[in-house]
Amino acid sequence: MVELSRVSKTYPGGVNALVDADLDIRTGELAAIVGPSGSGKSTLLNLVGTLDRPTSGVVRIAGHDVTTLSDRQLSALRASTIGFVFQQFHLAAGVSALDNVADGLLYAGVSRTRRRRLAGEALDRVGLGHRLWHRPHEMSGGERQRVAIARAVVGAPALLLADEPTGNLDTAAGEGIAFLLRELNTAGTTVVIITHDVELAAGLPRQIRVRDGRVHAGTSNRLPCGTQEEAVTP
Ligand code: ADP
Repeated sequence: MVELSRVSKTYPGGVNALVDADLDIRTGELAAIVGPSGSGKSTLLNLVGTLDRPTSGVVRIAGHDVTTLSDRQLSALRASTIGFVFQQFHLAAGVSALDNVADGLLYAGVSRTRRRRLAGEALDRVGLGHRLWHRPHEMSGGERQRVAIARAVVGAPALLLADEPTGNLDTAAGEGIAFLLRELNTAGTTVVIITHDVELAAGLPRQIRVRDGRVHAGTSNRLPCGTQEEAVTP
C-alpha cells in the first residue's frame, strides 16, 4: 500500500526533516508513527498522504509512483484512495454531521442524494446514526472526531491516515476513537496513526519510530488482516 525508498525531505531554509527514509506498509496493516516533537512524523505522514512531494527518493502509494504524477493525478489518487483524520477535527461549523460527512464525497462525482445516503451509513458505522442533524458545536469532542472519521471513510479509502486523532480528547473518548480505528482496520482498511498516546501506540501491531528525521520502520507483530495464513508465533 505504501512504499518509501530512500526518501528525503528538505524544507526551504535547509531543515532536513526526513533523511533517506525506507518504509513499506502492507495492505491491511495497522501501524503507529511515534517519535518526539519535531522528529519528522508529520512530514512523513504528509508524504504518505501525497500532500507533499519528497525532495529526493521514491514514494509509491497503492502502486503509483507519486513523484511522476501531476498535481491533478495526485488529487485524484488522494480522493480515491486516502482518508485523513486530524487532531482538530476540521469540521465545517454550522453544518450538520450528515452534510459534513457527505461533503467528503464532493469530488467523487456522486449525486447529492447518494452522498447523503452514504454519509448516513458512514455515521451509523461510527456509532452516530442518532446525531445526523447535530452541528459540530452541539457535539462532544469524541463525537466530533467520529464525524471526522466518518467523513474520512465515506468514500471507502484503502488507506486511512490519522494525525494525533486522540490528542484533543479525554481518556474515555480517546479509547473509543482507538477502538473505532481498530474496527475499521479489521474491516480491511490500512490504518496509520501518528500518536503521542503511549498506550494507543503500544496497543497497535506495529510502531514506526521517527527520530531526527530517521525512520525506524519496525515490523508488524501480526499478519495484516485479510491474509489467510496462520498467525506466526514469535
Ligand atoms: P513532528 O510531526 O514529528 O513534530 P515535523 O515533521 O512537523 O515533526 O517537523 C520536522 C522538522 O521539520 C522540524 O524541525 C520542523 O521545524 C521542520 N518543518 C516542518 N514543516 C516545515 C516547513 N513547512 N518549513 C520549514 N520547516 C519545517
